[in-house]
Amino acid sequence: MTGTLTIAGLGPGDEALVTPEVAAALAEATDIVGYAPYVARVASREGLVLHASDNRQELSRADEAMRLAAAGRRVVVVSSGDPGVFAMASAVFEALEASPQWQGLAIRVLPGVTAMLAVAARVGAPLGHDFCAINLSDNLKPWPLIEKRLRLAAEADFAIALYNPRSVSRPEGFSRALDVLKEAGCGDRITVFAHAVTTAEEHIEALALRDARPGMADMRTLVIVGNSTTRRVGPWIYAPRRAS
Ligand code: SAH
Repeated sequence: MTGTLTIAGLGPGDEALVTPEVAAALAEATDIVGYAPYVARVASREGLVLHASDNRQELSRADEAMRLAAAGRRVVVVSSGDPGVFAMASAVFEALEASPQWQGLAIRVLPGVTAMLAVAARVGAPLGHDFCAINLSDNLKPWPLIEKRLRLAAEADFAIALYNPRSVSRPEGFSRALDVLKEAGCGDRITVFAHAVTTAEEHIEALALRDARPGMADMRTLVIVGNSTTRRVGPWIYAPRRAS
């Protein structure tokens, strides 16, 4: 097997946030595999084959990528942000576990700037103290587990980054998540809604959690709920480094 399989993160949107390492991998690739909107971010060129697929096709996409690499192609599987954060890297390893014949493949994972870090940098330093990240999609885990993690994260006083807050197919989940956090005593917490950061459609709003409305989030929004000490200084929002 002389092909390679590179799993790369394209960052949150801005070209300037694609790492040089990822740019080099894309420049050497023969095949790009991924969810269509992410594949569309890779400039097409002579000899480069683009394999765009639908959302939720992660496992078949991973299989296809391994098949191409095993046939000698230089394949790059692309995700937005970081490929290891609610993205393709885990899907590739799940597929690899199911197909031991591919375990000799040359695989690399190249990090990218994940959405919560791009958002945090825009508003100040809301992740400057202990924090966690929770995916609100219940495609692959039961909703009661999401609620449990929200309650425990609130109790532990983590700042909480919420990925995939809301989609057309599950409009009630985010509303319920806000209720769970309010019931857990987070009503006063500063909450950031950041839509499409680092793109032309970027829009960021911050307010107390109790004033947040479910409609403020969509699938291109990352939500950061501050911890109990998260505060404002001038236009900035930050978490102090100390906790008691
Ligand atoms: N691997 C990606 C996350 C994929 S899950 C990463 O590391 O960023 C998709 C979710 O990421 C979206 O629903 C949204 O919550 C968040 N997201 C991705 N890009 C974003 C952006 N530019 N602005 C705001 N949120 C974004």
